[in-house]
Amino acid sequence: MTSDKNEDVAVTWFRKYLRVNTEQPNPDYQKCKEFLFEYGKELGLDCWYKDCVPGKPMIGMTIPGTDPSLPSLLLYSHTDVVPTFREHWTHDPYEAYKDEHGNIYARGAQDMKCVGAQYLEAIRRIHKVGKRNFLRTVHILFGPDEEIGAAEGIQQFVKTQKFKDLNIGYSLDEGLASEDDTYKVYYGERCTWWFDVRVVPTENLQALEARIQEWCKQAGPDVTYEFILQDKNTNLTPTTKDDPWWNVLSSVLEEENCKYSTEIFIGATDSRYLRARGYKAIGFSPMINTPVLLHDHNEFLNEKVFLRGVEIYTKLIERLANVPKH
Ligand SMILES: [Zn+2]
Repeated sequence: MTSDKNEDVAVTWFRKYLRVNTEQPNPDYQKCKEFLFEYGKELGLDCWYKDCVPGKPMIGMTIPGTDPSLPSLLLYSHTDVVPTFREHWTHDPYEAYKDEHGNIYARGAQDMKCVGAQYLEAIRRIHKVGKRNFLRTVHILFGPDEEIGAAEGIQQFVKTQKFKDLNIGYSLDEGLASEDDTYKVYYGERCTWWFDVRVVPTENLQALEARIQEWCKQAGPDVTYEFILQDKNTNLTPTTKDDPWWNVLSSVLEEENCKYSTEIFIGATDSRYLRARGYKAIGFSPMINTPVLLHDHNEFLNEKVFLRGVEIYTKLIERLANVPKH
């Protein structure tokens, strides 16, 4: 259970992170910041933070590359989690209870403290075999408020000089679990048009809006429409081998015998703010054979699935951080 001497150190730190209550609408970001600084320091990483809005820290860890002039690799995750309804949970959602099968129950187990911990545990493994330097700088960022649209999170951060200084070349962020044995890799997401339409970015947006206008006209002179939010960004991240980043990412998955499919995310993630500015961003949460329980009761992740993810990131981060100048 909670004190398992044979537990992998990665799992122990993952569970510690899950015990930090960052539930919306009142996430304990102060405690989260303290925890992540402790975690980063234990790995010998240079930790920093930036409050774009007081009390809403963007937490960063930076590993300088041997050629810091090259665009960097960003490993992104959000720190907040969605609300819980305790009466529906078999265990306290902030206990990180582990059952006899290795299933770890906690809010954030899938969305997405798993990924934040996997990045760091991959770095631990890379350091362990004596590799300390990558060609490119690596930034590991932990952002607030993704679950409420990030208006006081990454939306503010991307406007800062600090963000520009990160000089990002490629970004990894969250995806979704998959119930079968195929990993899902997301290279774009649907555009949110709030009277709630989610538009596939390959759609002709002008034609779609013209169609809506036409329907209103036909319905009568007093029928109008208005979008509360209308995202018109249709940037997609390349998934062809001539893209040097994708070539490395897909090659690592192939070498690791990971079946994968490339998809457009059904909802919205913080990556949209990066893609909208022309950055390449991939959504990937390495969880297969796992029921999709994000935002659901009794969210859990099996420790073996978690550790397999650490293994994949160990190779992926090292290779992406060493993508040659192009
Ligand atoms: Zn998420």
